[in-house]
Amino acid sequence: MAVLEILKFPDPRLRKKCAKVAEVNAELKKFAEDMLETMYSFKGIGLAAAQVDRQIRLLVADTRPRENGRYKLEDMTELERAVPQPLVLFNPEIVRKEGKTTYDEGCLSVPTYYETVERFNLIEVKALGIDGKPIHFTTDGLLAICIQHEIDHLDGKLFIDRLSPIKSMRIKSKIKKFGYPDPSHPQDEDELEELLEDREEHRL
Ligand code: ZN
Repeated sequence: MAVLEILKFPDPRLRKKCAKVAEVNAELKKFAEDMLETMYSFKGIGLAAAQVDRQIRLLVADTRPRENGRYKLEDMTELERAVPQPLVLFNPEIVRKEGKTTYDEGCLSVPTYYETVERFNLIEVKALGIDGKPIHFTTDGLLAICIQHEIDHLDGKLFIDRLSPIKSMRIKSKIKKFGYPDPSHPQDEDELEELLEDREEHRL
């Protein structure tokens, strides 16, 4: 297995629309495993193929609580617990969506930024699993949020596109102008405090 490089906004490759896979072959299976390893090594809970420069409809996710994480077992909903994880989803499709929820989202492609995003609360998903067989489940909680965030990546969309136009523009121009803060050289106390917060497990 290998840890892959993660593209960061404003890389234009993150804006490409991803294509469906025709079949899940051995090479794609191995690639999905590399994506899982990459996601875990950067302490993410989800990763889309677009983020590692491959424009295919594939995402991986694992929202189960981890050691020292903020997300605890009791935070997991019953539906979320019923889905076997880690999840590898080829050609994922949301066939039903219900209700609204909000969450403080982060992203491995937009490091150090966390913003509240509105998503559907419950989703029914159809996809192909790592063995190429159809998967069909309904979930809510953090897993539902994560899957919606990753499917956005497959359509060239980022969570910072889903903020108010003013906020979205402010964040994008700040990153384009100054890049991302360096955790080893925080600019000021506020930034240092933000970087020290235990939010790693919430990057999608
Ligand atoms: Zn993301």
